[in-house]
Amino acid sequence: MFRPLATKRLLAAGSRFNSSLARAAPPPPPPRRSLWSRVFRYTAAASALSVVTAVLVIAYKVHQESNPANQEPQVPFFPNGQKKKTLVILGSGWGSIPLLKDLDTTLYNVVVISPRNYFLFTPLLPSAPTGTIDMRSIVEPVRTVTRSRPGEVIYLEAEATDIDPTNNRLTVKQSTTVKSGHSGKDSSSLKLTPGIEVITTTLDYDYLVVGVGAQPSTFGIPGVAEHSLFLKEVSDANAIRRRLMDTIEAANILPKGDPERKRLLLVVVCGGGPTGVEVAGEIQDYIDQDLVRWMPEVASELKVTLIEAMPKVLSSFNEKLVDYAQDVFKQTNIDLKTNTKVMRVTDSCVEALCKSANGLEENVNVPYGLLIWATGNAPRDFVRTLMSKVAEQKNARRGLLVNGKLLVDGTDNIFALGDCTFTKNPPTAQVAFQEGKWLAKHFKHLHKIDRAQYLLAHPTTEPNVDVARTQKQLQRLQEKERPFVYNHQGALAYIGLEKAVADLAWNGWSNLTLGGTLTFLLWRSAYVYMSLSIRNQILVCLDWTKVAIFGRDCSKE
Ligand code: FAD
Ligand code: NAD
Repeated sequence: MFRPLATKRLLAAGSRFNSSLARAAPPPPPPRRSLWSRVFRYTAAASALSVVTAVLVIAYKVHQESNPANQEPQVPFFPNGQKKKTLVILGSGWGSIPLLKDLDTTLYNVVVISPRNYFLFTPLLPSAPTGTIDMRSIVEPVRTVTRSRPGEVIYLEAEATDIDPTNNRLTVKQSTTVKSGHSGKDSSSLKLTPGIEVITTTLDYDYLVVGVGAQPSTFGIPGVAEHSLFLKEVSDANAIRRRLMDTIEAANILPKGDPERKRLLLVVVCGGGPTGVEVAGEIQDYIDQDLVRWMPEVASELKVTLIEAMPKVLSSFNEKLVDYAQDVFKQTNIDLKTNTKVMRVTDSCVEALCKSANGLEENVNVPYGLLIWATGNAPRDFVRTLMSKVAEQKNARRGLLVNGKLLVDGTDNIFALGDCTFTKNPPTAQVAFQEGKWLAKHFKHLHKIDRAQYLLAHPTTEPNVDVARTQKQLQRLQEKERPFVYNHQGALAYIGLEKAVADLAWNGWSNLTLGGTLTFLLWRSAYVYMSLSIRNQILVCLDWTKVAIFGRDCSKE
């Protein structure tokens, strides 16, 4: 009995003592975190928040891209009775697709015609033959673009072959391996003539946009068309890959020192513009970073030669960058032959005229196992046909002549953009892209003019039409629109060895020239940013990661 009572008292005394202590000295504050630990905590929280936001944004964009909303169907007339005009867009490249992406397709009955049912992100095409980038990662199906527009867009996988600019009629052809036995579709503007393997269609248009690009130039040099490979389309990149793998495997069968083995292991790239430089750099990377691990003996013999007719490569870039690129070539063993103009190509050899420093010319023969031809652009057959039918185009040689509003000279309803035109701007994706966006706005403007003109002619078709106001509005619209102005933002090119060159510009002035590994990262970021869809952006990043981890695939499909 006594002990518990004493214990209770002791405990009570203890707790009184403790509470008086507590009153006298409050518990010490938790130890203050160091500045670094706070910075770390905030950075971690901010990073986590950014990752969550990025995931949500990507998920939203993927959902939006893969679930297009319903579209307004095509109709012959607007509710006020005004005719809805047919706008035919030729091509699915850098000019036509940005136009389509920005166009208000509820204002026109839009028909897109292109033999290629996808958009190709050409800046990354030189990375495709070696497998740095998978072909599928740089293509965007046309139908994902046409289906995402507010108004219905018809897409025909065909190529324009002829045009009657006087009667606004286009002839298009689809070459198919499916034997056609159907009787054809009949409508006022679309007539199909059943054929065996070729379907020919005529199509009427109110406005036509020609965005058919260009074809690789051969300058009529004998043997080029028969023996070389170009780099313009996905099929070209596939062909280069197959030929590269074939020559490597064929050479591998032959004994070392065999002259045929030596020839097979010579890759010649003709044309030192950005296409030639980039593809030469990519092939050399493949040799140095991948082939050397799996077939070291072949890799040590495989040589890349770049032939350029002018004294320097990359003539459109700043001189400092050109010298830098040429230095990088020396480090990577790319054999650069400048001042060397190819005159003839045989099935195993390039024959060229080489100008030496003292101005003397000598003939040189460069044997090859794989020849890639990249000497620029020439007009496509359809463009030549159009030129031949418009008197004002008789002096056009390198492309269609257009005015400041991209209207083809000598016509009043045919527009042209991109590589199929000849203007003061270079034939680049950047120019075609900006022209496409400008044309989308221009067609909105043209619709406003058409509508105002219709309302003035038929004022009773809509309630409360103020004729005087509409007249003023029409006058303003006709006077207001400014012509297309190109805003050059610079140029980027990959030169191999994980280095790139950049000639950046603001408002048309060249301000900053960069070269090296950081520029290579800028090059990559810029191209991911410029890829048309989130799907392409993700796939391209995954391809680069895959190559960084596993290397490039050297199997032949
Ligand atoms: P394209 O993009 O070539 O599109 C033409 C379209 O018309 C295609 O869809 C084609 O199938 C279609 N077509 C063809 N014939 C017909 C027909 N008869 N009827 C209907 N449709 C037809 N530029 C840059 O600014 N930066 C770069 O990094 C860059 N890299 C490049 C890399 C390579 C390998 C190449 C080849 C080019 C590169 N370019 C680059 C240039 C750029 O790709 C072109 O300037 C750009 O593609 C031009 O756009 P376009 O719409 O005029 O033609
Ligand atoms: P290009 O016209 O830019 O260069 C072709 C090169 O081939 C020229 O340097 C020319 O002197 C040379 N050439 C012509 N005939 C020759 C011959 N017989 N023998 C040896 N050399 C000869 O062509 P490209 O590189 O295909 O580019 C086409 C267009 O696409 C250009 O406007 C270019 O700017 C653009 N492009 C840009 C990039 C980029 O910005 N990264 C990449 C590729 C293409």
